[in-house]
Amino acid sequence: MLQRTLSGVVLMLACCLAARAAGAFELIEIAPGVFAHQGQTALMSRDNNGDIANLGAVVGRDAVAVVDTGGSLVEGREFLAALQQKTSKPIRFVINTHVHPDHIFGNGAFTETGAVFVGHKNLSRALATRGPFYLASFREALGPLLDDVKIVAPSLAIEGTTRLDLGGREIVLRAWRTAHSDADLTVLDEGTKTLFAGDLLFLRHVPIVDGSLLGFLAVVGELEKIEAVRVVPGHGPVVAPWPQALEAQKTYLERLTRDLRAQIAAGAGLEAASKTAGRSERPNWELFDDYNIRNATAGFAELEWDSP
Ligand SMILES: [Zn+2]
Repeated sequence: MLQRTLSGVVLMLACCLAARAAGAFELIEIAPGVFAHQGQTALMSRDNNGDIANLGAVVGRDAVAVVDTGGSLVEGREFLAALQQKTSKPIRFVINTHVHPDHIFGNGAFTETGAVFVGHKNLSRALATRGPFYLASFREALGPLLDDVKIVAPSLAIEGTTRLDLGGREIVLRAWRTAHSDADLTVLDEGTKTLFAGDLLFLRHVPIVDGSLLGFLAVVGELEKIEAVRVVPGHGPVVAPWPQALEAQKTYLERLTRDLRAQIAAGAGLEAASKTAGRSERPNWELFDDYNIRNATAGFAELEWDSP
C-alpha cells in the first residue's frame, strides 16, 4: 500500500516536472471570459523569458482582445498558445497598455493572427523613439531571447475614450495624460467590471515614474472614480479589489512628492534629495533599490520648476 502510494507520488511529481519543463504558462480565468497571467516580480532576464508583467485577455461572443504580450517573443508565443487552449475564437485586437519592453516585446507572436494592434495616440511615436534603444539596451539581460523581437506599432490609435466590440461584449479603452509613461492606456471590461490598469497600478513591485510624478498622482485620483470591482495591475498579484488596490501606490507617490518638495525648499541638490526622498517606503516594496533613486531623480527635475 505504502509502495503504491509512493509510486503515485512519484508519478504525480514526474507529470508536474514535465509540464514545467514544457514551459507551462499559467493563464487563469479571473471572471467569466476574462483571463490573466501574472508575471514574476523581477527584472527581465533570460532566466525568466522577460516574463515580469501581467498580461490579459477578454473573450467576447465573436472575438478576443489581448492586453499586452510579454517581454519576449518566447513569452508572447507561450501566451498565445495558452490562450488558444482556452478559446478558439479569433484574436481581433492586441492592445498595448504602454511602451515598456516587458509589455510589448511579445507583440511579434501575434502579428500572424491578423489582429489589429491598438495603443495610446502617443504609442507609435514612443516606440519609434525608444524602440531601437530598448532593443540595444536589453541585449545583455535577454541575450538570444532578443534575436527575433520586433517592434510592432499600433494601427489603431486611441485618444480619449474608445469602445471596442467583441460581440455581445464591449471593452472601454481610455488614453491618459502623462503619468507612469506618456502613452498609458487602460482597458475596462464593462460586463464583469474588470479593469486592466497596465502600469498605472503597481502592487508589490515598487511603482515606476517614467512620465510625470504629478501626472501619475493626478491620474490615480481619476482612476479611483472608475466603476470596477476588480483590477489587474501591470505588476504584482494578478487580481485585486478595486479601488482599494490603489492605496499603497498612492501612499508611495505622495511620500516621494512630499519628501522632494521638502528637500527642494531646504535647498538640497539633486544627488542628496534623490538618495533620501521616499526612503521610508522601502519596507513596503520589492525592487525598491532598482527604481526609487530613478523615480526621485525624475521627480526632482519636475518639482524643481513647480513652485507650490
Ligand atoms: Zn511600464
